[in-house]
Amino acid sequence: MNLIIFGPPGAGKGTQAKRLEEKYGARQLSTGDMLRAECESGSDLGQMLKSIIDGGQLVPDEVMVKLVAFAIQDEACANGFNLDGFPRTLGQAQELDAMLSEAGANIDHVIVLEVDDGVLLDRIKTRAEETGSARSDDNEETLKKRLEVYHEQTAPVLPFYEEKGLLRKVDGMASIDEVTEQIDAALGAKVAA
Ligand code: AMP
Repeated sequence: MNLIIFGPPGAGKGTQAKRLEEKYGARQLSTGDMLRAECESGSDLGQMLKSIIDGGQLVPDEVMVKLVAFAIQDEACANGFNLDGFPRTLGQAQELDAMLSEAGANIDHVIVLEVDDGVLLDRIKTRAEETGSARSDDNEETLKKRLEVYHEQTAPVLPFYEEKGLLRKVDGMASIDEVTEQIDAALGAKVAA
């Protein structure tokens, strides 16, 4: 099963993506984690990426598309994948569509976690306090920028999948377990349909 999990920053995509991998074997592909690993390598590319990420901006589509094209071909995705953090622009969605059709594959479900901006700001502040700010982009200023970018560039991708009948909206403000239950129900409903 090939999945995409969408949601604004702090919506809990990563937590749910991990559960999707455990339950359905769909390999979690977190583009944020891939980029952070590159940043930590200290390479020139990593330094360039870090300044983009810390500014709350998006990494260029060409870089992201190459990264994902490589990742989905990995053997670890033999039972499918769940994309956590990609696509984030319409261009990325179109490129993904093209690369999957070429490979004779497709996306089965697109899950979107819906959360109010005010709730997200509170969550990110708590995450920064609890983790001692493990992520350098978990601060109020960067979050505001990331939310702005989500609404401007990522939310417009949703109609692309809605038109294909793949979109599954979930209340991301419910508890973590309730969100998981809603996702299971949404996937089950689609499978049974
Ligand atoms: P995340 O961990 O998914 O919140 O991603 C952290 C940051 O990595 C984002 O704020 C972006 O700067 C960058 N990033 C992750 N995925 C993408 C993507 N698909 N396109 C562009 N930038 C991305």
